[in-house]
Amino acid sequence: MNTRPGKGNTQTKVSQRRVAVWAGLLALYCFIYCSVLLAAGRQVNILAFGDWGAESSAEAAVASGMKTYLVEHNLKPDAVLLLGDNFYVPLPGGVEDPRWQTMFEQMYDSNVLAAPFYAVLGNHDYRDDLAQVELDYPKARPESRFKMSGHWYRVDMPTENPLVTMLALDSNADELGRRQWAAETEWLNTELSRPRAPWTICFAHHPLFSDSAHGDDRKLQRDWGPLFRKYRVDFYLAGHDHCLEYLRLPGWPTSFVVSGGGGYDVYPIERDRAKFARSTNGFVRLEFSTDTARVSFVDEQGKTLYRFERDHKGHVNVLPPFDEGAGGV
Ligand SMILES: [Zn+2]
Repeated sequence: MNTRPGKGNTQTKVSQRRVAVWAGLLALYCFIYCSVLLAAGRQVNILAFGDWGAESSAEAAVASGMKTYLVEHNLKPDAVLLLGDNFYVPLPGGVEDPRWQTMFEQMYDSNVLAAPFYAVLGNHDYRDDLAQVELDYPKARPESRFKMSGHWYRVDMPTENPLVTMLALDSNADELGRRQWAAETEWLNTELSRPRAPWTICFAHHPLFSDSAHGDDRKLQRDWGPLFRKYRVDFYLAGHDHCLEYLRLPGWPTSFVVSGGGGYDVYPIERDRAKFARSTNGFVRLEFSTDTARVSFVDEQGKTLYRFERDHKGHVNVLPPFDEGAGGV
C-alpha cells in the first residue's frame, strides 16, 4: 500500500490549515467584540454619606429616603461610602453594643442595601475610644456590611478588571500624629502611582473645600492637593459639613463633593463658590460607566435635587434633576 503523502493529502492539509486560521480569526473577533460590549455595558453604582450616626430622626429619615430612592430606581448599589462621624454617641458595649444593630444593621435595610459599606473615621469617631471599636467591629463580625480594614485602605471595584479605584483616607491629622500622617500621605502617593481603574475616588471625612460652616481645610489642600492634581484624582468625597455640595474649582481636575447630611442637624451655606450647595439632609449617588461618571444629590425624601456628569478630562454637563432615562443632554 502506498503510504506516501500524495497531492490530495497536501491539499487537505492546506485547507485544514485555512479553516483553522479562519476559525482563530473568528474567535479573536468574537473575543474583542464581546469585550467591547462588556466594557461598554459595565457600570458601578455607589452611594455616599457622612455624619450619620446620631441616633436621630434625621438619620432614620435619610435611611428611609435612600430606600425609597433605591426602590423607585430599581437600583442595587455596588458599594456605600460612609464619610465619617459614624457615631456621635458612645458604644459602651464595644463591638457587642446594641447600637450597632439599631443604628446600622437594622437602620439601612439589607433587602435594598446589601452592598458593603466602606467607612472612614471622622473627628467624632475619635471620642470615647470609638475609632478602635469601629476598626474592631468588622473583624469581629466579618459577615456585617460595615467594612473598615484600617485607617486608610484601597478597594477596586469590581475586583476583576475594575472600573473604579477607591482610596479611603483618615483626614484626622492631629489624631494620627506627624509620623502616621506622613506614612498615610506616602501610601496615598504610592497607590496613586500604581495602576488604577479608569476612575479614581479618594474619600475622607474633612473636605478640602466647602462653602458651609467648617469651610476649607488648608492642611489637606497642602498635603493631599498636589497628589490629587498630579495623578488627576477624579473625585474627592467628604462629609463634616452637614449639607450637600459640589465644587468645581479652577486648576483642579478633581470634582469635590460634600455629603455630610446623613443624620445630624444641617449647617448653613455661607459662601457662593459651589456649583451646587443645599443645607439639607440626604446622600449622593455616583454612577460610573467606562467614559462617564454621573453624580446625583438626593434629599431625605429620596428626591433628586441636582445632577451632573463628567468625563475623564473633567468636562462637565449639568443634567436636569430627572430620573434616569428622562434626563440627559
Ligand atoms: Zn465631623
